[in-house]
Amino acid sequence: AVNKRSGPLLDTQVISKTSSTRAFIAGEGNHMSGEEKSKGQQLEKDLLMKWENLGVEDPTLLEKASGFCEGYKSFLSNKTEREVVDHTVPLLRSRGYGEYVRGKEYGPGSRFYVNNRGKSLIMVTVGRRPVSEGLRIAASHIDSPRLDFKPNPLFEDTDLAFFKTHYYGGIKKYQWSTVPLSLHGVVILKDGSTTGVRIGEDPGDPVFVVTDLLPHLAREQMKKPASEVITGEQLNILIGCWPFPDEKVSQKVKLNVASLLFEKYGIREKDFQSAELCAVPAFAPRDLGFDRAMLGGYGQDDSVCAYASLMAELDADPEYTTVTVFADKEEVGSDGNTGMNSQTLKDFLTDLVSAYGCEIRHVLERSVCLSADVNAAYDPAYGENFERNNSSYLNRGAVVSKYTGAGGKYSTNDASAETMGLLRAILDEAGVTWQVGELGKVDNGGGGTIAMYMSAHNIDTVDIGVPVLSMHSPYEVVSKADVYMLYRAILAFFNSPRSK
Ligand code: MN
Ligand code: MN
Repeated sequence: AVNKRSGPLLDTQVISKTSSTRAFIAGEGNHMSGEEKSKGQQLEKDLLMKWENLGVEDPTLLEKASGFCEGYKSFLSNKTEREVVDHTVPLLRSRGYGEYVRGKEYGPGSRFYVNNRGKSLIMVTVGRRPVSEGLRIAASHIDSPRLDFKPNPLFEDTDLAFFKTHYYGGIKKYQWSTVPLSLHGVVILKDGSTTGVRIGEDPGDPVFVVTDLLPHLAREQMKKPASEVITGEQLNILIGCWPFPDEKVSQKVKLNVASLLFEKYGIREKDFQSAELCAVPAFAPRDLGFDRAMLGGYGQDDSVCAYASLMAELDADPEYTTVTVFADKEEVGSDGNTGMNSQTLKDFLTDLVSAYGCEIRHVLERSVCLSADVNAAYDPAYGENFERNNSSYLNRGAVVSKYTGAGGKYSTNDASAETMGLLRAILDEAGVTWQVGELGKVDNGGGGTIAMYMSAHNIDTVDIGVPVLSMHSPYEVVSKADVYMLYRAILAFFNSPRSK
C-alpha cells in the first residue's frame, strides 16, 4: 500500500528507493536534461518540504564541524556544573569579560558575567540597540544525570567498601552498572575550607564501579522489569577491598579507605555531610564512527548546547544585548537558586536594565529566548517510539521544538506561531539548516526543558538543540555537523537585527 505523504520521506526503505531512483534518472540524464519539470514536479518543489542530509547539502561541512568540535571535546571533559563554570570563567576573562558590577551602565560592546554560586553562569554582551528594545537570551543547562553521593555514603559489607548514592536526574539505572566511574565534587571541611575532588579522569587514576550480577545466576533478575533490574539502593559504588592493618579494628576496609581519603583530601566521614560529590562515567569524549562524523561522550545533554551558545556568545557582534545562561538543576526540575525555576536570573536582569532607567517587565516582554536543549534523535532500533514526520534526525541540522512536555501538551512552553516565525526568518536568512522535532510519539512519555520557566517571565521562548542518540545514558551520541549548525543558529539569533 502506498501512503499519501504530505511530509518528508523519512522511511529508510523509501530513502534507499529514492536514491536508487535518483541514480536511475541520473543514468538517463542525457535524455532528461533540458526537459522542463512536469507540473507535478514543479508543485512538489514549490509546496512540499524536502529533507537533505547536511553532508549532501554541503560535503565540506564535516571538516568545518570537526574543527569546531575539537573545542567541544575538551569542554566535555568538564563533567559537572561546577567544573563547567570553573572552566568557563577564565575563558570569559581572557576574552574581555569582567565580573558584573551592579548599577554600572555598560556601553555597547561591553561584556561581563555573573557567577552564581559556582554552579550557574550568566554572560552578557551589550548590543548596539538600547536594552529597552529587549534582550536576546540563549539558556542551556550544565548539569547532567549522574549518581550523587548520599550524605552518609561510606559503608563496608563483607570486606568490601562502598559509597551509597542517590541518582540525580532521569536515568535507566541498569545502564550505570559495570561502567568505569570517576568521582567529582567539593567537600566543605570542618574549618570551612573547600576541598575539590576529581579522581578517575586522568589515565593514571583509579576508577570506580557499580557491580552487576553475573548472567549465570541472573535467572530471577532477568525476569524483572528493566526499572527494577538494578534498584536505586543497589547503585553502590565499589571503592576498596584492602584492610587497614590493625587487628583491633572491626571495619578494616572502611577504615583503610577513610585513612586514604584523609591522607589525600583531608576528609573525615562527617565531612560528607557538607559536600556535593557525585560519580559520572569516566569515559573521555571520542570521535565515533569510521567517518568520525559523530561524537560519543557523557553529559552531552546539555553541554552540547552550552558549548554552542558559549561560542556564539563569544563570537557575537550583537544588535540586541545578548544574555547567555548556563543553568543548573535542569535534570531535577530546575528548582533551587541555581536553577531556572527561581528568581535569580530575573533579579540580575532587573539590576542590569535599571541602570539604564528601564522597567524589567517592559524589557522582558520585548525579549526573545532560545531555550537551548537537546532532543531525542530518531533511532531505527527503537523506531516504534518515534513519529517519523515529527522526529529529529542526525545530520539534519539544529532541531527546533515548538513544545516539549508530556500527555496533552502538559508542562511545556508552547512557542507561539509568531515566535516560530521569527526564528524561522532568522535561521533562513543566515542559511542555517534546521529541522523541527517532537520528543517521540504522543503519550510515549515526554520530557521538559527550562523553556517554560523562561516564558513564565513573559519572554517569548522557543526550544532549540541538536538530536541525541542514547540520551541520558553514560555515552550519548551527537552528529558533529548538527553541533556546528546549532552554533551557527545561536550566532545568527544573536546577530540578527530582526525585531519581533
Ligand atoms: Mn537537557
Ligand atoms: Mn536531560
